[in-house]
Amino acid sequence: MGNPRVVVLGAGFGGLELSTMLSEAFGERLDLTLIDRNDSFVFGFSKLDVMFGRTPPEAVRLPYSRIVRPGVHFRQEKITAIDPHRRQVTTDRTSYDADVLVVALGADYDLAATPGLSEAGHEFYSVRGAVALRTVLPQFKKGRAIIGVASAPFKCPPAPSEAALLLHDYLTTRGVRKDCEISLVLPFQVPIPPSPATSRALLAAFAERGITFVPGREVRSLDPARHVVILDDGREMPFDLFLGVPVHRVPDVVAESGMTEDGWIPVDPGTLATKFPGVYAVGDVAGIEVAKAGVFAEGAARVVAQSLIAEFKGGEKPPPYAGAASCYVEFGGARVGRVDVDFLSGPSPKGTFQGPSEALAREKAEFGSSRRARWFGLSS
Ligand SMILES: Cc1cc2nc3c(=O)[nH]c(=O)nc-3n(C[C@H](O)[C@H](O)[C@H](O)COP(=O)(O)OP(=O)(O)OC[C@H]3O[C@@H](n4cnc5c(N)ncnc54)[C@H](O)[C@@H]3O)c2cc1C
Repeated sequence: MGNPRVVVLGAGFGGLELSTMLSEAFGERLDLTLIDRNDSFVFGFSKLDVMFGRTPPEAVRLPYSRIVRPGVHFRQEKITAIDPHRRQVTTDRTSYDADVLVVALGADYDLAATPGLSEAGHEFYSVRGAVALRTVLPQFKKGRAIIGVASAPFKCPPAPSEAALLLHDYLTTRGVRKDCEISLVLPFQVPIPPSPATSRALLAAFAERGITFVPGREVRSLDPARHVVILDDGREMPFDLFLGVPVHRVPDVVAESGMTEDGWIPVDPGTLATKFPGVYAVGDVAGIEVAKAGVFAEGAARVVAQSLIAEFKGGEKPPPYAGAASCYVEFGGARVGRVDVDFLSGPSPKGTFQGPSEALAREKAEFGSSRRARWFGLSS
């Protein structure tokens, strides 16, 4: 069989890694179209750097015009319809027929699902939200700050804890920490359920810094008139600054495609194949028991790429996707910890922890720069 026409929807962690691997394997013989509505990619963790003013927004945008991989054609278009039966994709410009279709469209946010969030609070999960906070945070000098999650699953489970620790540093540097309270509301009983050691280290860090941890609760709504957050058990928490993680859901175009069940696209966890022949789903959009994080999207994309290489070029099929990856955790003070989590190979998820250090902060920076080089040909 000849080389397939591959259409990859979404140029995030999953789509970028998949396109890169297939280009390396097939070179100019590849016929791959990579579609994204945006003109650039931003790492999730860069949003923390942007909101706290550690990095200007321009510096974290990685332009798709830099993708010059043999056989990969990037198209900046909005996907408006997906027909998984016919493997046909419609965009605001044209339509595409695929032999192999990979849906890597990530998760979108449903701000309206948390009444009062847009009016009285802020979110830090989108680039727009992180940029807006650059003018909001400097005005916060005293009062109660709450970092709260509206529902699980949400991207990068350590991120709200990181935001709380970095907010502590930010307020300390500005000399106003003593006039501020910080609370963190999470839907889990501990910050990182698969890794007790990571959770213990984070709980100790919160205690040392006077950050109040509210476990096992979700934020249901905000009352803009009374400036209170209302939790799922009815409890009210007054706030002066609310930094929220909105409800996550698949992008509208995915919901409308009829591919979802229980909100996400069901896949075979070992192969990432959907029930539609020739159609795969990788990353946050997939309904699979791994964390919604870039490193897992990347790992899933590698398995799909290896299996397509085996199918169309010959060779061994890859072992089933193990759902194992390393996540870096910002502890503040320029120190970063690392949790290595294996979600799928044992009977239950397991994580091991390396405590925060400057060496791991350098390793995290290297993680980012290696992807900038690999996906975008950028040297720093
Ligand atoms: C604050 C924060 C910190 C994070 N920190 C980390 C971290 O340290 N490590 C880590 O691994 N992960 C981290 N993440 C999570 C990570 O960013 C995501 O899990 C990851 O990007 C998911 O990859 P993906 O390929 O599934 O989707 P995405 O990277 O979200 O890519 C999906 C793409 O689809 C495109 N798209 C969607 N709808 C359409 C449409 N209709 N038409 C065209 N294009 C469309 C989007 O523009 C997007 O580029 C963090 C996230 C946040 C918010």
